[in-house]
Amino acid sequence: MQIQVQDLEHRYQSAGSPALSKLSHTFEAGTLTGITGPSGAGKSTLLYLLALMLTPSAGSIRWDDQDVQDLADADRARLRARHVGFVFQDAVLDLSRTALDNVMEAGWLAGLRREESASRAQELLDRFGVGARATYRPGEVSGGQAQRIALCRALVKNPEIIFADEPTGNLDSESADVVWRALADAASEGAIVIVATHDSKRVAKLPNRLQLVP
Ligand code: ADP
Repeated sequence: MQIQVQDLEHRYQSAGSPALSKLSHTFEAGTLTGITGPSGAGKSTLLYLLALMLTPSAGSIRWDDQDVQDLADADRARLRARHVGFVFQDAVLDLSRTALDNVMEAGWLAGLRREESASRAQELLDRFGVGARATYRPGEVSGGQAQRIALCRALVKNPEIIFADEPTGNLDSESADVVWRALADAASEGAIVIVATHDSKRVAKLPNRLQLVP
């Protein structure tokens, strides 16, 4: 798979200058790309556009041969649910539900059967060292554990595309290592992985980088 953007531009309604202007780039399957740039450079905006959470003001986004920038909301939601895993800076889990339910739900929405979703969810929670927290709610686990749960939620559907927005910004170094390793593994298994980050040490080691300027 491939994501190709051409002359991509985004202007928020209230803003005078564009948050992102004239970006052209191709993201290939099996690669992990680090998006860098100072605060306000448009890193989050780019991820939201690529993940079909925002509609660009101009330019195109292609997933393979399909133009996806102008799809109706329901079609975008369907594509996202099936193909995209998204890790936000602050986990963003459903606080009223257990870790296991948070992860399983992403599996159902992607079309996995209930049992399959449950077993994959538990497997992932175990793999990332939070299996014993499966029945806890997000408010009952540490920040690092919540982020590992969020990572499991992104991975449960085996997505072809994974976005992460400053996924290790608030983490201790051990949890940060776990998250970076998981993202690199997903890329080596064939996913397109795109990570916005300020972590210059990690980015320096990545073969694929895209630097945004404000
Ligand atoms: P980064 O992730 O690199 O810090 P962002 O994509 O968050 O950058 O922001 C890019 C620019 O868009 C900034 O100038 C920011 O203030 C502006 N911006 C972001 N979100 C909104 C919004 N909802 N409404 C108006 N302007 C926004």
